[in-house]
Amino acid sequence: MRALIVVDVQNDFLPGGSLPVPHGDEIVKPVVQLIEDPNQKWDQVVMTRDWHPYNHISFAKVHNLPDFSPISYESPLEGDDRKQEGIVFPVHCVEETHGSQLAPELLEEQKKIGCFVVNKGYLQDRECFSAFNDIWNFQRTELHDYLRCHDVDEVYVVGLAMDYCVKNTAISAAKLGYKTTILEKYTRGFISDKESMLKFREELAENNVQLA
Ligand SMILES: [Zn+2]
Repeated sequence: MRALIVVDVQNDFLPGGSLPVPHGDEIVKPVVQLIEDPNQKWDQVVMTRDWHPYNHISFAKVHNLPDFSPISYESPLEGDDRKQEGIVFPVHCVEETHGSQLAPELLEEQKKIGCFVVNKGYLQDRECFSAFNDIWNFQRTELHDYLRCHDVDEVYVVGLAMDYCVKNTAISAAKLGYKTTILEKYTRGFISDKESMLKFREELAENNVQLA
């Protein structure tokens, strides 16, 4: 069974939002068309939302740091002294705000087809890029169970941003055993220079994610 996973096409990640992905708006209509495309015959369509409490650990202002500063995250597990390097962001996708809602055309589509919506990043004390799990892989969303319950073995990932949540969702999916493809035409990212794109492609290849 084939599933389409539409990652984080939310107002805050679009132009005019608090953390806009360059040209993110260009994919909204095409993604709706992809969902509706009769030739695709999706068995499942899932939409994900970045869904943070107002004081989420990934927000720069929580740490009194300028936006996009580097940060060293400590494991939320007591007694675990591992750290992960990251960067902090402007406040974005606060749960139940306008910024965290799906883009209007996608919201309309979601209501029309009644597809499953997965929230992620709702635990205050940890960053979360993948729609399957937080960056420590301690907390899992319901996405894997949902897909398994519906006999999905093949996933296609689209949405925003290509080099963060789309990439991490795809890598998680591949690690969980799904045949995984990112449909490049239906994503936009923060990176665009040749070197970063090359590294991005290598990372996908190393993790058994196809780019089509
Ligand atoms: Zn976020």
